[in-house]
Amino acid sequence: MTSSSLPAQNLAAVLETIAKTARQVEREPEDVTLVAVSKRQPGDRVDALLAAGHRVFGENRVQEAQARWSERRTTHRDVKLHLVGPLQSNKARDAVALFDVIETLDRPSLAAALRSAIDASDRPAPQLYVQVNTGQEPQKAGVAPHDAPAFIDACRTEFGLQIDGLMCIPPVDEEPALHFALLADLARRCEAPLLSMGMSGDYETAVRFGATSVRVGSALFGPRDAG
Ligand SMILES: *Cc1c(COP(=O)(O)O)cnc(C)c1O
Repeated sequence: MTSSSLPAQNLAAVLETIAKTARQVEREPEDVTLVAVSKRQPGDRVDALLAAGHRVFGENRVQEAQARWSERRTTHRDVKLHLVGPLQSNKARDAVALFDVIETLDRPSLAAALRSAIDASDRPAPQLYVQVNTGQEPQKAGVAPHDAPAFIDACRTEFGLQIDGLMCIPPVDEEPALHFALLADLARRCEAPLLSMGMSGDYETAVRFGATSVRVGSALFGPRDAG
């Protein structure tokens, strides 16, 4: 087996696991989008997933995403890109020009920057998710759970942004289910129904708790380059 056939096999297995898990909790498999997180992966692995028909990818850095996707997008115009990493306000225009979903809105200054970037852009506005720091970890991005409702309200009323969903990255050493349940509850209360949660190690749990998208990197592509 060549190394570039592995991502396609992994893709089939991950999609099957998502479908099976969804059915177990009486959800429709199509209601869960697999976001293939291609950050720091060699191009041939990304091309293997494209060749297998996969079209939704996640990146955590704007510049790296531009480098990986500008060219590929001219041949695969139906690719959808999610930004899953922190966004600096001065990169908001580049992000709005490239991404279909920005999952990491977490502060008023970024909401303001996205508002002007969207106004200046001729692309359709990206969908926006608010990142919630469910574990309240000081080093991690995201709004605290108790601040989320007011922040989401401000995004909508002060900045006129449509907030479509929420995203979280649970602490590595805690049971993710508690965090997924918390995020799902917040999403209901804030009427932001899309839920980005679950990575390679816990995406099945996330699907059980209502994830509408899961962000899977290494389980599809194999280990990443350091960096
Ligand atoms: C890297 C990354 C992922 C993918 O992680 P894996 O464990 O390789 O699946 C998911 N979400 C975010 C925010 C990431 O930065």
